[in-house]
Amino acid sequence: MKVYMDQIVISTNRRFQLVDITERIEEIVERSGVRNGVALVFAPHATAAIVANEHESGLIEDILDKVKEFTEPGSSKWRHNIIDDNAHAHIGSALFGAERVFPVANGRLVRGVWQNVFLLEMDGPRSRRVVHVVVMGE
Ligand code: ZN
Repeated sequence: MKVYMDQIVISTNRRFQLVDITERIEEIVERSGVRNGVALVFAPHATAAIVANEHESGLIEDILDKVKEFTEPGSSKWRHNIIDDNAHAHIGSALFGAERVFPVANGRLVRGVWQNVFLLEMDGPRSRRVVHVVVMGE
């Protein structure tokens, strides 16, 4: 079995943002030479998440609105805000998840037509967000 590892480095410019990383993941899958297997997409961050969904500008704002509503940034009920004003982002990362796994078939990332892959920033702007991509298979 082949294991190919690479990473994507991006910056974010808003507190809440969805950054489409689909093309860069697909380039890594292509470079890996893996024909059939899986691709792990993992963000080593406690205040961001990886999600897959449609890249449509209205929907992107809808998702971000719902993330804010759900995680309640600035809420006085979050204990972590006493030491670091980003409890909402930790909660979002914990619950939405910092990784997704996709099949790779015939050398291509398997995803739905309306499924792009995004880094979900919840504590930006950040000058450096890293996404690890591990492609495994044969
Ligand atoms: Zn924190």
